[in-house]
Amino acid sequence: MVDINEVVLLIEDAAVLRHFLRSSLSRQNYEIVEASTGEDGLAKAAQCSPDVILLDLGLPDMDGIEVATRLRDWMETPIIVLSARDQEESKVAALDAGADDYLTKPIGVAELQARIRVALRHSRRKNTPVEEPMFQVDGLRVDLANRKVTLNENELRLTPIEYKLLAYLVRSSGKVIRHRELLQAVWGEEYSTETNYLRIYIKHLRDKIGDDAGNPRFILNEPGIGYRFLGE
Ligand code: CA
Repeated sequence: MVDINEVVLLIEDAAVLRHFLRSSLSRQNYEIVEASTGEDGLAKAAQCSPDVILLDLGLPDMDGIEVATRLRDWMETPIIVLSARDQEESKVAALDAGADDYLTKPIGVAELQARIRVALRHSRRKNTPVEEPMFQVDGLRVDLANRKVTLNENELRLTPIEYKLLAYLVRSSGKVIRHRELLQAVWGEEYSTETNYLRIYIKHLRDKIGDDAGNPRFILNEPGIGYRFLGE
């Protein structure tokens, strides 16, 4: 499944975790480059041009958020933040600084591998100029070219806002989208803090696409962070 030698840069000061991740990811044919400080990570990012970066937030010499900000000055490589459970605010800050996703420690290997695959797929897609016009998952079909949404072959009547919201989520399926980003994309810059809108419209959207917030099959709530569309 995995292309040989996709390079994963691992910026993490805890040697135990580095070794654990190295051994589990090497088995998937990823090539792992390790850095144990922020400065070392920035240097290695320049040297090895990684395909994906795993970034710890608590580094000895600088905050992982600063590392993300500095990486984003010059590279678009997907960054997956590795954070401890009590760092919710830092997670948001890291995402705002340009990280693409986050994982909470302790890290599950299967989940990490899935997130890496998503990150790689998105960066490949970004490099492909033609947008995928059709999205389909579990009976739900979103035709982005014709702005048509069907559920089990029945056409759904979505309001323009609901459609915009769904289309935005679907285009980034698998990836967590921050509240702020969604609000800006759907309602505009001046609404970027109106998380109430999201709660209301996500509920409308869920009702129409037959999703259950308690047991979601399409839209996953990431409390305090944003939403993730489950796809593929
Ligand atoms: Ca650490």
